[in-house]
Amino acid sequence: MAPPVILFDRIPDDGLQQELVLEEAWLTEVLAETGLMAVPGVAGSASVRLDKDGRNVFLSGRFEAPAQADCVACLERMTLSLGADLVLHLEPAAGKSVKATHEEVELSRDELDVDVYTDDRIDLAHWLREAILLEAPLHPRHEVCPVKLEMPAAPPSARDVIDPRLAPLARFIKKE
Ligand SMILES: [Zn+2]
Repeated sequence: MAPPVILFDRIPDDGLQQELVLEEAWLTEVLAETGLMAVPGVAGSASVRLDKDGRNVFLSGRFEAPAQADCVACLERMTLSLGADLVLHLEPAAGKSVKATHEEVELSRDELDVDVYTDDRIDLAHWLREAILLEAPLHPRHEVCPVKLEMPAAPPSARDVIDPRLAPLARFIKKE
C-alpha cells in the first residue's frame, strides 16, 4: 500500500504527525525507474509532520528507504540506505494559477522550495516518491568494494618472452 493522501481538512490546527511504513512493494514500484531495487523483506519508514498556515501546508520530517543495487565498480550486490530530511512548503494549487502570471514571484517561490497541492489533497506518496528519487544514486558504488578485484597479471611483454631459438641473438643485442 502506498503512503496515504491527507485531506487538508483532516490536519488539526496543532499539526498532524504521521509515522509511515514504506512497504517493500511500494518501494519496488518507486525504485523501478532508477535501476535500484527494494530489499526483499525489508520495509522503509517515514516520519512526516504536517502543519497548517492558513491554506498553506508545511511538510517536514524524514524518510529512510533501504535499497539495493549492483555496484558499478565490482558488480557485487550492495545495500544502500536512502534517507533524507523532508522540508516542503505547499500552497493550494488555486493560489498558483493566480500568481503564475508574475514571473518574479515564480522565481522566488522556486528558491523557497514551494510546491502546490491540488483538490485539498496532500498526497504523501507523491512527495515521498520525489524525495526518494532525489536520493537515488545514478551510479551506485561501494565506498570500498568488498571484493578486491585482482588485476590480472600483466601479460608478459614481448621483450620478456624470447623464443628460445632467438636467445643467442638476444644476448647479442644486449651486448650492443
Ligand atoms: Zn563495489
